Amino acid sequence: MNDFEGLRALVTGGASGIGRATAELLAERGAAVAVLDLDPSSVGEPLLAHRADVADDASVRAAVAAAVAGLGGLDVLVNNAGIGARGTVEDNPDDEWHRVFDVNVVGMVRTARACLPHLRASRHAAVVNTCSIAATAGLPQRALYSATKGAVHALTLAMAADHVREGIRVNCVNPGTVDTPWVGRLLDAAADPAAERAALQARQPLGRLVTAAEVAGAIAYLASPLSGATTGTALAVDGGMQGL
Ligand code: NAD
Repeated sequence: MNDFEGLRALVTGGASGIGRATAELLAERGAAVAVLDLDPSSVGEPLLAHRADVADDASVRAAVAAAVAGLGGLDVLVNNAGIGARGTVEDNPDDEWHRVFDVNVVGMVRTARACLPHLRASRHAAVVNTCSIAATAGLPQRALYSATKGAVHALTLAMAADHVREGIRVNCVNPGTVDTPWVGRLLDAAADPAAERAALQARQPLGRLVTAAEVAGAIAYLASPLSGATTGTALAVDGGMQGL
């Protein structure tokens, strides 16, 4: 099924994890795909690679312009680049709050701002933001990270309302714990990574972590014409953690 034949997509944070799996899936399904990442050195054909820091407006504007020129237009933006943060409100100083918000929230705003003029010219325009179960789950030790993802959720709803009459759909996915290099780094930092992984898996209702490919599948659905009447939604991909 080539749901994306003729469509052009940009994936931020597309060099690793969820973004990489999404870029590869969209390309497999027929899209022309450009990746925007801090370090796109591992990204190769058929994906186009552009280096940019979503915390730097000039670099985002330059990379989006280059990507759109390379793709010949833009139909799909996957706003996925993000970073983690641990701790309660007592643990992170103000500058850390500003730094993580600047990447996780304002980074999506900057990228959307650069992409919207191009999306308006598309006959099938979709934005998918990578949010998190942290937006609504009340996770311990994740005050800053959760606040950024709560903001991404609200941003998704606001953008959906602002752009629906322009034919631009905006949705988000809320992954649970996904087996990506990010989670690998967290586990590696534990005293006993194997035991920590086993404990993490045991906490999952599904009995295992979510895969990046499973999140990519949900993003692809929200980006594809198959979800053509869906906007302003959050799709959980969390192995059943929501509602527990
Ligand atoms: P990852 O670390 O494997 O990949 C993140 C990618 O984003 C990397 O390639 C990195 O270089 C890029 N990136 C980071 N900061 C950037 C910046 N300032 N500018 C441009 N690119 C930047 O992480 P992942 O697990 O695939 O996470 C991707 C998204 O999924 C994030 O928004 C994260 O919050 C969200 N998420 C992840 C999980 C999880 O369990 N892994 C769960 C819920 C949500």
